[in-house]
Amino acid sequence: MSAFSLLADDRHARAGVLRTAHGEVPTPAFMPVGTQASVKGVAPDELLACGVRVLLANAYHLYLRPGAEVIAAAGGLHRFMAWPASILTDSGGFQIFSLSRLARIDDEGYHFASHLDGSRHTFTPESVVALQEQLGSDIAMVLDHVVAGDADAALAEEAAARTLRWAQRAREAITRSDQLTFAIVQGGTFEHLRRAQAQALAGLDFPGYAVGGLWVGEERRVGLAMLTVTAAELPTHKPRYLMGVGTPEDVIEAIARGMDLFDCVYPTRCARHALVLTRSGRLNLRNASYARDLRPLDASCSCVTCRTYSRAYLAHLFRAGELLAPRAVSVHNIAMLVALAGEARAAILDRRFWTWREEQLSRLGGLAATEP
Ligand SMILES: [Zn+2]
Repeated sequence: MSAFSLLADDRHARAGVLRTAHGEVPTPAFMPVGTQASVKGVAPDELLACGVRVLLANAYHLYLRPGAEVIAAAGGLHRFMAWPASILTDSGGFQIFSLSRLARIDDEGYHFASHLDGSRHTFTPESVVALQEQLGSDIAMVLDHVVAGDADAALAEEAAARTLRWAQRAREAITRSDQLTFAIVQGGTFEHLRRAQAQALAGLDFPGYAVGGLWVGEERRVGLAMLTVTAAELPTHKPRYLMGVGTPEDVIEAIARGMDLFDCVYPTRCARHALVLTRSGRLNLRNASYARDLRPLDASCSCVTCRTYSRAYLAHLFRAGELLAPRAVSVHNIAMLVALAGEARAAILDRRFWTWREEQLSRLGGLAATEP
């Protein structure tokens, strides 16, 4: 049986089910980020209660600390972090690109210095497959050559060609049959590169495809345009993952362009800045207006935070520096994005996604707040 079933589409928007070794993931789905094998401040049972069925961990960070052998000895990443549902591990290309000042890339792979202690390491397409097999994630990513959003055509082309060669090498290195490996489409902000890269990778018949190297500093309209041209070349019956997105508005727009999976630190990062994502926009609990506001964060949300606490109480906890405040808002913000993806799915199944999208986007513009 194929790992992914497409159940319905409404123009480009898709509803499906992704099956992994740790259960089914209805798509579109939002994946919270647990870089260090922990979604900051939120426990596994709380994530499950939010409706999370897949989360993201990072192979680069876990390789450096605590080390893959520690996690393998614990019985794999699921047991190590006590998470029973699906896990996607990112390969590390983006982290080396963004964290390591001492990185060098050649056809062999990345040669980099740890951002923790400066120790020297090499990641190759093969070693990254082996690393993620050791971690035991359900979905693994190939190593890719990431470039900045303003990279010129020559660099973007070199990076895309290398990413393609590395994807071929990664494919040869796979030994586990219970792990789904996704290839990553690069190509910078150049339509012809994105198109060619997506076509070439589609020919390699990976179980899934990711779109990388977007939302890395280019203009949003450019990112959305790249998404449209890339999606058009990807196989219909394979899952599609847009890496590093995002905000409620971006998730809706990516679903509208045929993406199925999303991840971002956005909901937990916002929560640490007292910023609440609601269906009618963002609210900042540090604003004086919430000090006596006894309503829940979002009356339309059924998460445990909204069922339990008021805006006034959480605003007080932020001012008092209490740890419960960012935790409780993280739970809500994650539940909000998971529910948003779930509603988009229901709307696609009912073939009313496009009117739903219009309504949601106009409601989301409702409240103004400062971004973190
Ligand atoms: Zn809530």
